[in-house]
Amino acid sequence: MKFTIHKKSNKSRKGKIELPHGSFETPAFMTVGTYGSVKSLSNKDLYDCNVDIILCNAYHLMLRPDNKTLEKSDGLHGFINWDKPILTDSGGYQVFSLSDNTIVKKDGVHFKSPINGEKIFLSPEKSIEIQMRLGSDIMMIFDECTTYPCNKDDAFKSLELSLHWADLSHKANTSSNALFGIVQGGVFNDLREISLSALEKYNFDGYALGGLSVGEPIELRNEVIAHMGDKLPETKPRYLMGVGKPLDIIYAVMNGIDMFDCVIPTRNARNGQLFVNNGVINIRNEQYKSDMRPIDSSCNCFTCQNYSRAYIRHLDRCNDILAQRLMSIHNVYFYQDLMRKIRVAIENDNLIDLFNEQTNLNKRG
Ligand SMILES: [Zn+2]
Repeated sequence: MKFTIHKKSNKSRKGKIELPHGSFETPAFMTVGTYGSVKSLSNKDLYDCNVDIILCNAYHLMLRPDNKTLEKSDGLHGFINWDKPILTDSGGYQVFSLSDNTIVKKDGVHFKSPINGEKIFLSPEKSIEIQMRLGSDIMMIFDECTTYPCNKDDAFKSLELSLHWADLSHKANTSSNALFGIVQGGVFNDLREISLSALEKYNFDGYALGGLSVGEPIELRNEVIAHMGDKLPETKPRYLMGVGKPLDIIYAVMNGIDMFDCVIPTRNARNGQLFVNNGVINIRNEQYKSDMRPIDSSCNCFTCQNYSRAYIRHLDRCNDILAQRLMSIHNVYFYQDLMRKIRVAIENDNLIDLFNEQTNLNKRG
């Protein structure tokens, strides 16, 4: 993996990440394709939305399909016919948030499969092995993700376990795939610093802030981002996991973050919440019943070039799956276009204008 910074503007950075399956510009937003698909969208849709990297999940892909199927198709890229980069999350977060009967031990986690109740053991070594088998371009270390609220003693204990697992993850990586470390420590900046300094000795290919966007107040999250953003190694990509809305992303970029992922654009799209240049519209509202304008008249996505709000609302009310697809196309395109605008703003040293614009939109609700 090669990371180059082309331009710095205050703490913000504009750059490029080059990987075996291609390159993408940063700051970048990774569209979430948990099971190896971005719900309702084909690869062509993703290409047309300018998506250059997707995020898939080792936890979900460990449960299904089986290894044989993946081996036959030469890894995840072959299986899903996606020839651009893939980042895989290690499964840590999902084990703790989605599984029943979770028992955490020093060497890993025992839990029951939410699909068939089968007993499963996931360790750092196993997570890395799965991610190597998937052939992901960027792998994440296996860690424990604390929930919110979490007191400082528990956050510290969890942090110690995550550091032990970071060591095991690092040792388990026998591939040339990029491997990112994940800084934990809850909302406690001193714990975050302890985590980072311990992880730095492994010289990971990139560094993520994990364990945020788990229910903490936005002010506390922003404090961690402001404190830690530009403490993460200068020459490595910095990734804020699971965040967020447009304003959250711009705020984090202003604090030195380069990479993002979040289910918001796709999940909200399926619920009729569509991002437009002056905020968000809910297509299910009565007011769009006969609205012949596109979702956003300044948007160049396939949906906005071809269909009206009224038609999309009609499809949604009829429960036609085309509505989900058209709305997802728009939101995915919107987020990629947001990142493009952020990169242009860094180039022009005026990201603060974009931040103020979004802040005013949020105030207006
Ligand atoms: Zn659009």
